[in-house]
Amino acid sequence: MKKENTQDFGKRFHSGEMEYNIVDMSKILIIHTGGTIGMTRTADGYKPDGLYFREAIFHMDSLRAKGMPEWDFIECDPLLDSSQMSVKEWNIMGKLISENYESYDGFVVLHGTDTMAYSASALSFMLENLNKPVILTGSQIPLCETRSDGRDNLITSMIIAGEGKVKEVCIYFGGLLVRGNRATKYSAQDMQAFISPNYPILANAGLSIKYHRSAFLKQSEGEFHFRTFKDVPIGVIRVFPGIRFDLFESILTENLKGVVIETFGSGNVPDDNGVLISLLSKAKERGVVIVVCSQCLQATVDMSAYEAGSALRKAGAVSGRDMTSETAVTKLYYLFNRYDDTSQIKKLMEEDLRGELTV
Ligand code: ASP
Repeated sequence: MKKENTQDFGKRFHSGEMEYNIVDMSKILIIHTGGTIGMTRTADGYKPDGLYFREAIFHMDSLRAKGMPEWDFIECDPLLDSSQMSVKEWNIMGKLISENYESYDGFVVLHGTDTMAYSASALSFMLENLNKPVILTGSQIPLCETRSDGRDNLITSMIIAGEGKVKEVCIYFGGLLVRGNRATKYSAQDMQAFISPNYPILANAGLSIKYHRSAFLKQSEGEFHFRTFKDVPIGVIRVFPGIRFDLFESILTENLKGVVIETFGSGNVPDDNGVLISLLSKAKERGVVIVVCSQCLQATVDMSAYEAGSALRKAGAVSGRDMTSETAVTKLYYLFNRYDDTSQIKKLMEEDLRGELTV
């Protein structure tokens, strides 16, 4: 882990050259985990390049312009394409934020877009009673390319983190600030890569940054606490017409502690001649927590709406309501790390803990 301090860097940063009052400045920590934003071209495609990125941002005058917060920078080692991230990296990010929590007013996490919604959701659960902004961002085009969207994403995220108005884990990308555990990556091409299908946007960054305060998370009173995750065997099954549930028997009933089933519409599944329900009943006896989410981006699971869904409820599945599948997965990690009692885990899966679902 290399930590750089803007104060220490070169000759560009002299308080005497600055026109603004340093006393009022907020200070943020930028954590670079990898992702397209800091990649350069190689013969095998884009790859994280810490040296390039560090030099690029330390030479960007706009990051020290009037109105920008003061910042420090931590580079994770190794820098990763976010497709390679796992519980281990979520723990590292959470630990970096928690160890530096008192020293900074906000945090910007630079991250690949592929699994940004998972990391943001995981952080939203790990960082209990969070009372500062944690903004994840990245880019679709690397900073080294002329048309990169990384510059705006970085600058605006820094401003949002420095302003400290929104005190929760968010993703800022392509002009939109969304709650991290409500976000899903929706485009691998558009500059607006993320949407928040079941919850309002927290801010729009156009000519100015317009915050939508009524959508902000209600702050909890408790003391900030960071909770690490241990690895838990969790699976996701996406149903499709003709799915043979018997092929999933051993993983469902022997290997997993939690399963997210991505169902059709509002929670409907093919019953596969009763195979699914008998499997789920076996899984339930073993204490497996089965969470029902929808394949539709915009949906609230209601297992009682159709006969094709009510069997799931009878077999002991819990409703993921309007949670994204990314959030259902990370919430399972969180709850299995916090509680031993599966009935408690099931109960809390259906409750709103961090603004991740609508009750
Ligand atoms: N594969 C990259 C990553 O997730 C994609 C990106 O950053 O946009 O790290």
